[in-house]
Amino acid sequence: MDRRVRVRFAPSPTGPLHIGGVRTALYNYLFAHKHGGDFLLRIEDTDQTRFVPGAEAYIIESLKWLGIEASEGIGFGDGPHAPYRQSERKAMYKDFAMQLIANGQAYYAFDTAEELEQMRERLKASNVDAKYDAITRGTMKNSLTLSEDEVNRRLENGDAYVVRFKLPRKEEVKFEDEIRGWVSFNTNQLDDKVLYKSDGMPTYHLANVVDDYLMQITHVIRGEEWLPSAPLHVLLYRAFGWENVMPKFAHLPLLLKPEGNGKLSKRDGDRLGFPVFPLNWQDPFTQEPSSGYREAGYLPEAVVNLLAFLGWNPGTQQELFTLPELVQAFSLDRVSKSGAKFDQNKAKWFNQQYVRKLSDEALAPFLSSALVNAGLNQDFSDDFVLKVCSLVKEKISFTKEIWDYSNYFFIAPKTYDEQVIKKKWSDKIPALLLDLIANFEQLDSFTHETVEAAYLQALAKNEILGKDFLQLFRVIVTGVAGGPPLFEIAALIGKQETISRLNHALTQIPSKI
Ligand code: GLU
Repeated sequence: MDRRVRVRFAPSPTGPLHIGGVRTALYNYLFAHKHGGDFLLRIEDTDQTRFVPGAEAYIIESLKWLGIEASEGIGFGDGPHAPYRQSERKAMYKDFAMQLIANGQAYYAFDTAEELEQMRERLKASNVDAKYDAITRGTMKNSLTLSEDEVNRRLENGDAYVVRFKLPRKEEVKFEDEIRGWVSFNTNQLDDKVLYKSDGMPTYHLANVVDDYLMQITHVIRGEEWLPSAPLHVLLYRAFGWENVMPKFAHLPLLLKPEGNGKLSKRDGDRLGFPVFPLNWQDPFTQEPSSGYREAGYLPEAVVNLLAFLGWNPGTQQELFTLPELVQAFSLDRVSKSGAKFDQNKAKWFNQQYVRKLSDEALAPFLSSALVNAGLNQDFSDDFVLKVCSLVKEKISFTKEIWDYSNYFFIAPKTYDEQVIKKKWSDKIPALLLDLIANFEQLDSFTHETVEAAYLQALAKNEILGKDFLQLFRVIVTGVAGGPPLFEIAALIGKQETISRLNHALTQIPSKI
């Protein structure tokens, strides 16, 4: 019988979560939901030397912001396999290490740091790969070389030890990766990894495999950097006799720099001006800040959508997907093997698409808060603010840009785009402006249709072509060369304001030419 799909995201709290990690979480979430299964969040904090305060809370806040909710785990209400933080599961791992020793798959090693260093020096001198393995273990201080009495004496004495995995010599380890197909490693490339230390802490490998087994994980979906660990994990499943419930592995492609090769790093983001983390972060030790998508003005839906496309595609032309749509469309066989290049323009494009989808009501608070900052919030009605949102929405990529693109609705321009003035102003313009003012004065109803008709009439009378004046008219009304349909802007700011801006231009511009 097929097992219920259970996947996990298992980050180590060693700093802010890179967007590559967020993508791993997202793919796990999508896979779980697609198959009606469970998505767990497990915190792998066994390496206390790399622990960074605040990192765990950051991971949880990031996932919540993006709507990548876990069905079990830290920050998401736990579940039947609690605790989900490995440091709190510490007591469980020793028995598993001992089980491997009892069945001859692992051994105690007592070598000191100096002895390990000497071994490495010795091997390097004879040009041999310096590692603790099937050959060198016979020359070291471990329960394979020491007598049983000596081992017991050391253990009773409380000597420091580690438990090492007894890796088979020159064995081909093969497994089928869901993304890469068959992958094979020879054990002579690996070493006898430490699984457990006498301070009571397991290492990543033991804790990771034991927890995946205990938490009934069916698929391990993680970054490519963990591919070299996979053969050891396969061998651990065999050593425990858990082969029949071994999860399937899927190693995701790396996120690459926008140009050149190599993994996308914070440095690339700083250099090229985009975040590589979901939220702002300040390193608690060095105080170094890192910028986040949320604070940079990205919408969570856009970040989810853009991350989904870094390494996966639906096989159709569709690019915009909500989270539930991604769940429907997602499959591991459409995840690519090769690295995914990050494209900051595409990221911005995704955000722009989602900003356009926002309702005027959803966009309005961003504009209102800018109005508060400018001390203008009392002067304009909610309805006016909503209408500005509706006109400007198409023009912005980020919600925080709304004020830059709309301030002329609220404040008459004091300066004018110089290039346009230089190019389009002529001796014929003042007369045209006076006719425009006169025509506008006549209008009882000031709509974009009546404004346009009055405008065309004035142009015809002055024998000026629309192409020679429209942009100048825009600059006179707004100060800037681009924006939403001009007659709609005029209609919204109203008759008096439009006329007053024309008068202002008439008195200001000629003196500056
Ligand atoms: N703790 C590992 C990490 O930080 C988990 C790797 C895995 O998913 O097995 O990414």
